[in-house]
Amino acid sequence: MIENKRTKFWYLWKMDNQLLKEFKKALITQKKIVIIPHKNPDGDALGSSLALQAFLSKTGHNSQIITPNEYPEFLNWMPGQKKIKKFLDALDESIQTIKTADIIFTLDFNQLSRIDQLGPFVEKSNALKIMIDHHENPGDYASITFSDTTKGSTCEMVYELISHLDRDQIDEPIASCLYTGIMTDTGSFKFPTTTARTHQVVSKLIENGAQPHLINQKIYDTNSINRLRLLGTALKNLKKIENTPVVYITLSQKELNQNKFKKGDTEGFVNYGLSLKGILLAVIMIENENEKIIKISFRSKGSFDVNKFAKKYFSGGGHINAAGGMSSLTLDETVEQFIKVIAEEKSQFYG
Ligand code: 5GP
Ligand code: MN
Repeated sequence: MIENKRTKFWYLWKMDNQLLKEFKKALITQKKIVIIPHKNPDGDALGSSLALQAFLSKTGHNSQIITPNEYPEFLNWMPGQKKIKKFLDALDESIQTIKTADIIFTLDFNQLSRIDQLGPFVEKSNALKIMIDHHENPGDYASITFSDTTKGSTCEMVYELISHLDRDQIDEPIASCLYTGIMTDTGSFKFPTTTARTHQVVSKLIENGAQPHLINQKIYDTNSINRLRLLGTALKNLKKIENTPVVYITLSQKELNQNKFKKGDTEGFVNYGLSLKGILLAVIMIENENEKIIKISFRSKGSFDVNKFAKKYFSGGGHINAAGGMSSLTLDETVEQFIKVIAEEKSQFYG
């Protein structure tokens, strides 16, 4: 479906000729291009950004990736990541690059609030903005919006885009970046968004050089003793809300400090809750003293829509079965509020 929205083009994801024409038109001449993934970039955000950058570079376009903040250590092997600029480390330079950009790609997020302080600079910029994303409720800040909430990852969308433009350009680094994002965002091919097409795409990526066992090792076999101990603490803190299919985990700043917490250490902890028999919603609440917030992750099975839930109660969003949000209350108060709203929304589990 293509619909003209004010002066903007709005594309619900469909690989049609009109969309490709617009895209190609934008890239006909040399442009100053910036690529921005969401805050706390994960495998999908970084993988899609790096793959797009590598593809653009092979077709004669230089670009700069700017991340709103740090990314976890387990991603610092990804092909091309050394050239990434972190906004917080290079404020003036990043602002200047955004100001003078002709095109800004925003990858793996749906609202400018997801890139924190970078948001207002992107909003003000006169660049052509192109969103590629798979989250629910895409905002309308972009000139061209590629949104497909049925896709398990932005990397799968970038694969479709590249393969329609020039499939021969998919080399080993591009294949590895895309494989990483597809693997991490589908929970290693186990979430309901994993389709026959996902496996076809992954098969092509392997043919083009992605090595699943090595990528798996680089992402998942990088535990430190501290991280495993922190996981121990998290699992000890896991609690079930009686008479509901809900569990939650808390981690206080003190517990994080005791286990020498490093960015990315809590990635995936929430999924342990969902591995319990009969549990349909698992939540982790993590205190961040620095930002004075509690960061929350929600994972569900079946019809309980955590995107709606996170949006309604915890200033967040995401997907039906995986979402994030935050609270400005204390950790104890956040738990209390969570238990209260679960009591209100209990009927949703069996809807
Ligand atoms: P995670 O819990 O792993 O941080 O995020 C789960 C999913 O929800 C990801 O797709 C992520 O992009 C999205 N997400 C996480 N936090 C937020 C948030 O604060 N707001 C919105 N809109 N989405 C979020
Ligand atoms: Mn994603």
